[in-house]
Amino acid sequence: MARRKLVAGNWKMNGSHAALAELVTIAEAARAAPLVDVSIALPATLIAPAVALVPGFAFGGEDVHAAESGAHTGCLSAAMLVEAGARFTIVGHSERRADQGETSQDAWAKASAAHRHGLGVILCVGETDAERDAGRAARVVQAQIEKSVPDLATGDWLTLAYEPRWAIGTGRTPTLDEIGEVHAIARAKLRTLVGDAADGIRILYGGSVTGANAAAILETEDVDGALVGGASLTAAKFVPIIEAA
Ligand code: PEP
Repeated sequence: MARRKLVAGNWKMNGSHAALAELVTIAEAARAAPLVDVSIALPATLIAPAVALVPGFAFGGEDVHAAESGAHTGCLSAAMLVEAGARFTIVGHSERRADQGETSQDAWAKASAAHRHGLGVILCVGETDAERDAGRAARVVQAQIEKSVPDLATGDWLTLAYEPRWAIGTGRTPTLDEIGEVHAIARAKLRTLVGDAADGIRILYGGSVTGANAAAILETEDVDGALVGGASLTAAKFVPIIEAA
């Protein structure tokens, strides 16, 4: 099944109101690439100003709480993200798994909460260095998908991102064969969970994607786009990735 490519940025805990100027150029490049979807997850404080600056562009959150409201100091609900103008949110990012101890069950609950409020979801999975060295990458990713993908997932709202933890922010990437292998395994796993809907779910690769390696990664079988951290912070680095898609 033909799936539109998606190039999604993730600013993490970076950026400022001044840095939002980058988004104007990025949005222009996105408009010039009508066959590619482009979106950027931002720190929550920047979502509303970004929407005001570039209306119509798909901005998202980097995390969401699973609860509707309540005593969760410092957290944001899906309704709050929607009110800020977000169209989607990342869940299960490996930095949150590592820093906040988030589990795949947490990612499931967060994805479900986001979906209840009409937010798209980019759900991240990926093995550690040690797990890959031990030959367990495929099993780890399969288990994460099994525990974190909601039963009713469809490509209309869910995107999976395969992000080997050891490739994030390190300048190291798996080989194209390794990427293709995990993506095929991930799609097969999705199929066992959601049936034919798996064909519509995009699977992004994430981890040290740059303008130099994007074209080859994006041409790899079963790679439907990229989730880009560091290289999404400036138009100079992000636009070549959009162009490569
Ligand atoms: C990410 O944060 O999801 C990511 C892939 O980061 P980077 O592109 O910097 O490796």
